[in-house]
Amino acid sequence: MKVVKFGGSSLAAGEQIKKVFQIVCEDPTRKIVVVSAPGKRSNEDRKVTDLLIQCAEKHFGGENCAEIIEAIFCRYETICIELELPMSIVESIKEDFAERLMGGYKDKFSFYDRMKACGEDYMAQLVACFFQAQGLQAAYINPKEAGLIVSREPGNAQVLPVSYEKLSNLKEKSGITVFPGFFGYSEEGEIMTFSRSGSDVTGAILAKAVQADVYENFTDVNAVYSVNPAIVLNPKEVRELTYREMRELSYGGFTVLHDEALIPAFSERIPVHIRNTNNSSAPGTKIVSRREEEIGPVVGIASDHGFCSIYVSKYLMNREIGFGRKLLTILEEFGLSYEHSPSGIDDISIILREDQLTPSAESKIIERIKMELKADEVVIQHHLSLIMVVGEGMRHNVGTMSRASKALAEARVNIEMINQGSSEVSMMFGVKEIDEKRAVEALYREFFAPVPV
Ligand code: ASP
Repeated sequence: MKVVKFGGSSLAAGEQIKKVFQIVCEDPTRKIVVVSAPGKRSNEDRKVTDLLIQCAEKHFGGENCAEIIEAIFCRYETICIELELPMSIVESIKEDFAERLMGGYKDKFSFYDRMKACGEDYMAQLVACFFQAQGLQAAYINPKEAGLIVSREPGNAQVLPVSYEKLSNLKEKSGITVFPGFFGYSEEGEIMTFSRSGSDVTGAILAKAVQADVYENFTDVNAVYSVNPAIVLNPKEVRELTYREMRELSYGGFTVLHDEALIPAFSERIPVHIRNTNNSSAPGTKIVSRREEEIGPVVGIASDHGFCSIYVSKYLMNREIGFGRKLLTILEEFGLSYEHSPSGIDDISIILREDQLTPSAESKIIERIKMELKADEVVIQHHLSLIMVVGEGMRHNVGTMSRASKALAEARVNIEMINQGSSEVSMMFGVKEIDEKRAVEALYREFFAPVPV
């Protein structure tokens, strides 16, 4: 049995949904279909989820959002026309939307989640209708009815373990089950969404629940590339990645798969197969526990910007018991989550996403660290990019770090920090944002091939 998830670009228009139908029909083991909300049809277009967020924010702020609502309805109307479906579906979407918009809520963020979830919920209903109209036995299921229970964390929910038993019943359903991605219900019955791109997470949860043989994730690229194609033209495609490599790459900035979508699949050793809706015969990329053949020390290079580092130095820090804990406690009290913490004898840097900080929080943090920890120096450095060089092969290849740092030196990139996780699956370089592209190109050249200009 396969769980198949289709991303927003695979559902952006009627033509795309016809491809989805073909793919589902081709293989009778594709029994559970998870859908995203309609994505962009062109670069200028807007994702339905983005429209929904804007609508929720405006409505909450008391502003008129008639134009945005019209744009949202128009997306579903267009799809209905393109698929020759009855307009009564759009009428019921409109009714439900009005109820959600006007209904009560506990707080702003749970209201936003209820609105955000419309995108996938309506899409799943529409896809099920289309499949039925084509003569396929198919049914929409609501995540509450199916038993997808999540933590009460608006915009960042996590599946609760109790969900799995109930969800496992989906296995027994005859025909195709069309499941909306991105959201579940809290124990109190409120709609809660996962973080952005969370339909991938729904697919992985269902694959685990029904013990699927494969979790197929259909998107709009032929494979996972070894580097961001926006940085290096026509990069090498990767055929096979391990869960750990994919997790590191997703975390590092690869957007092809949500970084939390691997955990449920990994825990049950369910292979994840990334495929292209627009080219379903392409081999795609398989994510597995062990790779058959070794393909060198590095499989991919990811990069992301928007980080800052809090550098703290104090003579004899290495002898002071509890220094690290006290430092992290201060950050915790400011509600900050940190990413890495490379350290030396007398100093430590804490790397964070800088959008969590405000100038006033920054000065308070510096003051508290200086006062409470008696630090000699506290400096916050902004506009950093993190580059992750990833590959299981690093473990038994000598000299990967020296190759990487030599490549960066030759490209005249100053390394602000280096962190090699104890897992030895990745190494991380912190560089200035302005150096990110040059650094990634240099690393790609070193580990893969010349960079086309
Ligand atoms: N529609 C949601 C988003 O844009 C979830 C998803 O597409 O996976 O984030």
